[in-house]
Amino acid sequence: MRKQHGPDLTRKVKPISRCVTCHGRGVTRGVFYEMECGTCAGTGWVDHATGQAMPAEDLVFTLSHRLLHLEQQLATLQRMQPYESSNRRGPHGSHRTGD
Ligand SMILES: [Zn+2]
Repeated sequence: MRKQHGPDLTRKVKPISRCVTCHGRGVTRGVFYEMECGTCAGTGWVDHATGQAMPAEDLVFTLSHRLLHLEQQLATLQRMQPYESSNRRGPHGSHRTGD
């Protein structure tokens, strides 16, 4: 096995963080309208290591991996927890963070 130089073609899940400039919304509030966030290039996410916007294909791969993982977790939780008790707060006191 020889080591090869050049671009790494293997897709990897990279650590990402919500953009602190736009709080993950992808837009910042202008005077009259919302503008695309320059820090994260409008994606709402940045590379955790650098705090910079990351290439779209890497971001999509990472988000898709996360989404899959979350969907699996959700399915597990829904199986474990009957609907009528689903509004109980968990041990971590998590709550909905939607709009
Ligand atoms: Zn942003």
